[in-house]
Amino acid sequence: MKLYNTLTRKVEDFVPLNGNLVTIYTCGPTVYDYAHIGNFRTFCFEDLMRRYLKFRGFQVKQVMNLTDVDDKTIRKAAEQNMGLDDYTEKYIDAFMEDCKTLNMETVEVYPRATRTIEDMIKLVSTLLEKGHAYEKDGSVYFNISSLPTYGRLSGLDRREIRTGTSVDSDEYEKDDARDFVLWKGKKEENEPAWPSPFGEGRPGWHLECSVMSMKYLGETLDIHAGGEDLIFPHHENEIAQSEAATGKQFVRYWVHCKYLIVEGKKMSKSMGNFFTLRELLEKGYDPMAIRYTLISAHYRKQLNFTFDSLDNAAKAIDRVENFSNAVSQTAGQTAPSTELSELIQHYREQFTAAMDDDLNISGGLAALFEFIREVNIRFPDSQVPQGNKKEILAFLDEFNAVIGCFNFGNQLADEEIMKLIDERNQARKDRDFARADEIRDMLKSMGIVLEDTRDATRFKRLK
Ligand code: AMP
Ligand code: ZN
Repeated sequence: MKLYNTLTRKVEDFVPLNGNLVTIYTCGPTVYDYAHIGNFRTFCFEDLMRRYLKFRGFQVKQVMNLTDVDDKTIRKAAEQNMGLDDYTEKYIDAFMEDCKTLNMETVEVYPRATRTIEDMIKLVSTLLEKGHAYEKDGSVYFNISSLPTYGRLSGLDRREIRTGTSVDSDEYEKDDARDFVLWKGKKEENEPAWPSPFGEGRPGWHLECSVMSMKYLGETLDIHAGGEDLIFPHHENEIAQSEAATGKQFVRYWVHCKYLIVEGKKMSKSMGNFFTLRELLEKGYDPMAIRYTLISAHYRKQLNFTFDSLDNAAKAIDRVENFSNAVSQTAGQTAPSTELSELIQHYREQFTAAMDDDLNISGGLAALFEFIREVNIRFPDSQVPQGNKKEILAFLDEFNAVIGCFNFGNQLADEEIMKLIDERNQARKDRDFARADEIRDMLKSMGIVLEDTRDATRFKRLK
């Protein structure tokens, strides 16, 4: 499998450091507000990558942090006259709920910055001891000129580095590369602060991620991912802090997801094209159509989000679910077709080849839709041989383990429904229409509608 590495600017073979285990750190949300669909483009991409690695047989250990103390969370909590924890709690819960809604897998660890402060203080002490940091006016700064490799990830020109000047804010531009803050000395009376050997204060945002990643994943991680905006200064600074402290390579593969834009324009509150997941749900959009839209463009291409794309996603999902539904109720011949088994093998290889190539999801999805088309050419109305039914449904489940957008219902329930349909047909033959109607109404109340065709009765699950 290959992945594009921002550090080397090349598509590289992906081989984890320790056998079969892949360690992944993904910069999580800053919990000062509801996450928007741009954030979720990155998070859903990371979920897709995780699921594909598992599909390829790797064991994944992923950490996604929750930034619950930084310039933004502190400012917002103060505006609301709330304690930091009380303020962020609501948005942590909302984020977890949104992840479930988008069918993202739960990752192994969700550390919170405010619960990892002691480890952060230790890292700052190490950097001070090793001469990579200095104290000034109650704060501690990283001396970027002390690390010759500083700027490699973002391609910063060494001449752009201003030595001896420092910056306090967490976010700044590349042409303003200066010594960045590791520990911010307490300035205001009500500011959240923790005691430390360098005085009361709080960690800088960049420090938080270096510490939470190494704490749970070790000093060298396989993959570190985030949106493209994090390359500078956030990830550049994470590398500096970690490598200066450990003397080891911090991350082997840097993976960055390009931005989501809306109807061709940058998403911004003032333009009115800024959407949280919750707003789209309120407008009545299906979360699986949102997930599909977010993952179905390659992560290294900008994604232009449109409402049309949501409608198209819903149609694509319907096509796959209807196919699965028809296959599970097939009235086709009993003897299995070897051609069909070969088709499954062929499209499994197509899917894998595409996804192995830097997670080429367009190619991966094309394999799924071509498979469905080819099956339907050979077996109209998806009336496949019954002997192939299980194998096709299992193949669809394999796709879905990676894509995560389809609801195929569960097999057991399908079988129960089929039994009820048989019972209803028997009741109709026996002219026991009351019982026949009772069964139909009962299924309807469970969101399952029956369609009587000339040859058989089929069912459909309503969403
Ligand atoms: P934040 O909560 O601002 O720290 O962002 C969480 C994640 O969302 C980070 O990985 C960002 O890079 C990513 N992100 C922010 N805006 C966008 C966007 N418009 N498109 C894609 N990813 C984004
Ligand atoms: Zn981070």
